Amino acid sequence: MSEPSSVREIRINPIVPSESVLVATARSMRPVKQEAPAPRDTRKLVETCPFCKGNEDKTPPTILAIPDDKDWQIRIVENLYPILGDNNQDANLSFGLQQTIEGYGRHEVIIDHSNHGIAIQDMSVEHLSLLFKTYKNRMNDIYQDERIKYVLAFKNFGPAAGASIPHTHSQIIAMPVVPQNVHNEIENTRIHYQKHNKCIFCSLVDEALTFEATIYDRVSGEIRRKIDVGQYVIERGEHFIAIKPFASHFEWELHILPLKHEADFTNVTDELLTDFAQVLKKSMARLDTVIGGAQYNYFLHTLPHSKNYQDCNSSYHWHLEICPRTSIPTGFELGSGLSVNTISPEQAAEQLRAVKL
Ligand SMILES: [Zn+2]
Ligand SMILES: [Zn+2]
Ligand SMILES: [Zn+2]
Repeated sequence: MSEPSSVREIRINPIVPSESVLVATARSMRPVKQEAPAPRDTRKLVETCPFCKGNEDKTPPTILAIPDDKDWQIRIVENLYPILGDNNQDANLSFGLQQTIEGYGRHEVIIDHSNHGIAIQDMSVEHLSLLFKTYKNRMNDIYQDERIKYVLAFKNFGPAAGASIPHTHSQIIAMPVVPQNVHNEIENTRIHYQKHNKCIFCSLVDEALTFEATIYDRVSGEIRRKIDVGQYVIERGEHFIAIKPFASHFEWELHILPLKHEADFTNVTDELLTDFAQVLKKSMARLDTVIGGAQYNYFLHTLPHSKNYQDCNSSYHWHLEICPRTSIPTGFELGSGLSVNTISPEQAAEQLRAVKL
């Protein structure tokens, strides 16, 4: 492994240029507080856990059990405390500057696995691809309701990442609006496409796989930075790639995206999902080896099934963002909107790649 040299620079997110990150790696420049790893619960079955087998009557009603109610591997239930629901009567009340949209939607919990404490990296490839197929099918079902503008599938792991129940689970929230983060990505990539006639995600993947550059100091002639082939690539499958973004909010953040252009996750085939599951499993194993038991969130960003975005099929590219919570944002980050990375993305990628699986 190369000697980590200290970096201090502000990097602009190429997808959403209004988002930037301060990469400050010298110890004295660390304005962040470290987040503790999540307590690891490796029990398979917990009698008092509402998500464990045998306690099905302790959750809201089952929406779907796969393969069946008795011997389920994945179970979807209504969320006990929904953020959005379909029983809101106060539709579209607006008063002066106070605009509201009806909080209509759906909020469902996906019990990822019958094994209480199993980590994503320990699930089989078959199970992981079944889990993502379940997200896909559920998203397609929910999109039948035309009032729904976006279905967000995500997972919280660990209390700092918002998981209130330790049993492995993820969630689906169907919203009457397209969330700002997704909208910003779609709009910026649309502009990029209009200028360059190419999807920026496809360009980033091409760059990650082929880019090579040496930048010299004009005065001294010394090498200032050398960017190597595959520097940001963490894991590669036949159809998917996991990359460490050049500029992202979280220092260990990884993105998994299809190598071949595809805007809509709900079009993904079973064959592709098997490859995706392999890349996800290996990426999570790498993260777990390097940052041990970190709390994290992952979420899917995909083209909304809304007429407003139909022309973005060529410019948007679906992806999974994995965001480990290794530090607690401070007043500096909240006040400036600038994320701080205390390890450079290049060093993080190198460490993740170096893990022997
Ligand atoms: Zn459980
Ligand atoms: Zn693309
Ligand atoms: Zn995204």
